[in-house]
Amino acid sequence: MPSVFAKHILHWQANNPRPLPWDNGPRDPYHIWISEIIMQQTRIEQGAPYYLKFVNRFPSVKSLADAPLDEVLRYWQGLGYYTRARNVHKAAVFINQQLDGVFPDTYEGLLALPGIGPYSAAAISSFAFGLSYPVVDGNVKRVISRYEGITSSIDEPTTHNAIRDTASKYMKGVSPGAFNQAIMNFGALVCKPVNPGCTTCPLSRKCYALQNGMVTALPVRSKKKSVIFRYFHFVVITWRGKVLLQRRDGKDIWQGLYTPPMMERTAARAPSIRQLETFVKSITGLGGIAHIQSSPAQQQLLSHQTIVGRFHFIRLLSPPPALDDSFVWVTKKMLTTTRDQK
Ligand code: SF4
Repeated sequence: MPSVFAKHILHWQANNPRPLPWDNGPRDPYHIWISEIIMQQTRIEQGAPYYLKFVNRFPSVKSLADAPLDEVLRYWQGLGYYTRARNVHKAAVFINQQLDGVFPDTYEGLLALPGIGPYSAAAISSFAFGLSYPVVDGNVKRVISRYEGITSSIDEPTTHNAIRDTASKYMKGVSPGAFNQAIMNFGALVCKPVNPGCTTCPLSRKCYALQNGMVTALPVRSKKKSVIFRYFHFVVITWRGKVLLQRRDGKDIWQGLYTPPMMERTAARAPSIRQLETFVKSITGLGGIAHIQSSPAQQQLLSHQTIVGRFHFIRLLSPPPALDDSFVWVTKKMLTTTRDQK
């Protein structure tokens, strides 16, 4: 017997279908996996064009596994969180080489793939294979916290597990994929963080938060961690119309991507000409530079840090020597073309 909760949200979903960009395309496990990973921390409207271009270029696990990582990263450019792209590629290679190209069809098998945690494993196993694993994202946590009147922090693992178990109980007797999709959509469109649609909500009669005047107080969150500020000074070195880029190695953000050589400093204030000259010399071995201009500071907010970036445009005064293979000279046109592939 389906739960009252499931009946209401599935009925609501049937009356409020949400067209998704992949509705008319293939929905095999591979495509479901890619859409789930791309849509993490991305709004559907924003992520959809990236998804469509990605699966158009890489229509199967094999095509993705056979592609060089650099190309995969290029198709990811603009989505951020590049570790996801690296993991997607690593997982495709693993499936291709270790699993004879067969996509895992169990929750545990999915969980063993790089970049797939409990959320993605639940989403893929329920959407692709009809397995009873509830997804627990921010929307689900909000709906269930309010409906059940959960007052412990949703950031605590014990609360997370309690919400997962409640969702699991509500899911019994209905299609797991349909339930997961419905509760996520319901959280995004009705039980919203601000101004939820309580007056027309089908769960209102049994909703603890509404019945007890606690809608705005729930869900409870732990205090936010403080955000770290980092100051990246990109030195745009040019020579005869070409720009020098450097591949980012090491375990920091944007690993494997190319940027202008970068000095990380403790403030947004521009380095002196002498400091820029010393930096350029450390890369090219050349002493003379012409400083053209420095850009104003711009901020990019990542999940756990804020990057404050500035660009300092430099022209070399003599021909650069050959550099190691982490550097590449590109034309300005190439930079534009790459950006247009977003
Ligand atoms: S009544 Fe309001 S708070 Fe309760 S589930 Fe519905 S939208 Fe959310």
